[in-house]
Amino acid sequence: MLLITRILKFVLSFLNADFGLYNIYKIKLTLLLFGFIASVYAQVNDTISIENVNIIPMDKEIIFNNQNVVIAGGKIISIEPYKREAIHGSHQVIDGTGKYLIPGFSEMHYHWRNKQGGIERDFKLLVANGVTTVRNMAEYDWQDHMSIKDSIQKGKKFGPNYYSAGPYLNSNNLKTVEDAIKVVKLHSVKGYDFIKLVDNLNREVYLKVLQEAEKYHIPVIGHAQREMPLEMSLRMKSIEHVEEFVYVFNEEQRNDPMFLKQAIEQIKIAGTVVVPTLVVFDFIITCLDDHAFFKLKQYKNAQYMLPSDFKYWYSNENPYRRNLKGKVTNGMDALPRLEGYFEWMKSFTKMLSDADIPLMTGSDTFGFVVPGFSLHEEFHFLNECGLTPFEILKATTITPARYLNTIATEGTVSVGKNANLVLLNNNPLDDIKNTQTIEGVVLKGRWLDRNKLDSLLKETKTLNH
Ligand SMILES: [Zn+2]
Repeated sequence: MLLITRILKFVLSFLNADFGLYNIYKIKLTLLLFGFIASVYAQVNDTISIENVNIIPMDKEIIFNNQNVVIAGGKIISIEPYKREAIHGSHQVIDGTGKYLIPGFSEMHYHWRNKQGGIERDFKLLVANGVTTVRNMAEYDWQDHMSIKDSIQKGKKFGPNYYSAGPYLNSNNLKTVEDAIKVVKLHSVKGYDFIKLVDNLNREVYLKVLQEAEKYHIPVIGHAQREMPLEMSLRMKSIEHVEEFVYVFNEEQRNDPMFLKQAIEQIKIAGTVVVPTLVVFDFIITCLDDHAFFKLKQYKNAQYMLPSDFKYWYSNENPYRRNLKGKVTNGMDALPRLEGYFEWMKSFTKMLSDADIPLMTGSDTFGFVVPGFSLHEEFHFLNECGLTPFEILKATTITPARYLNTIATEGTVSVGKNANLVLLNNNPLDDIKNTQTIEGVVLKGRWLDRNKLDSLLKETKTLNH
């Protein structure tokens, strides 16, 4: 308020001075100056201060206790030790006493699966769970993710920082070198952030996709090229699903510690990022196991699934129950085979993490893998692999920011960065489950308290009826 009073005094003295101008100019000048005051006031007005909070900045493993964080114009403008008598002109003051402030989470393997309720429905679930950055992993033919991204950026649509791959590309879309040229060019024209491959391609076609993508500066990501040596897959920016390594390696290689050590060294040197997506694999296993499957009826987050979706996935129409359950391959039933893969995937994820290979959190969001909630389940599985809470938080904050080339403005709690934050009631470094104790979320400088987050969740349920 002090600033505004000063400006007002300045304006009044200016208007009272005799400039020998006609009154009309005086009026114009007055309007101009009041416009300026209004804009200054608006800036003061969106100021939020979170007082006496413990900060986990995520650029190193440390907690700064008892800090004041001031946010204005969508950015963190100051972080200072808490003083009881602190004077501020904040519009909103949030008591952070005993709470923990960390960067917003990143869902790096999202899919918009259900037209009903629109993508807004998923955004509500994601934001209510502390997700402030989302990478969409495919554009289906009824979708237009670049216009969604544009609407969010212009503030027309409520949503997280948004990135999207183009359409899901398999070997039918990419049969020839000419297809590769055409498809990559289309990605450039449409402005997609990534080219996503999900299939084994012919070698010449694959190399052409990589070359063309480099020309247009579009990163290529996706599933591994399972029929080619590891080195070929490592030319991509990131590999989705740690499961892919089950197929890139043969059984003997998967059980050979020397081989794995060398493979990990190779992944590390290549700089490839890996998105394990363990929660979705757990869901697939659940579908094959009657005992676990029927328990899904009581799954607490099923209340946020669309009723039609629940009906489909909780039935024998579920494609994994229909096509995979009871299927015997090389004398082995699908369930123990996949359980064996899952154990291997978890130990390989731990090896990747121990070697400091950048990992990112993603969940694949389909079926009972409910957007927002599923990211916290992914944290749980990463913890089960043996990753520490700090390593898991890195994979959902600073690593995605570096990967998306937004490290200058995202990924840590630091002065000058965009205010995309989560306020937790309990320390997530003590127990990763504490990422679920969300007291509030700051999305692009806007404070959403627990009541607001609850109402977002409630809105997704009312859409169900
Ligand atoms: Zn996917």
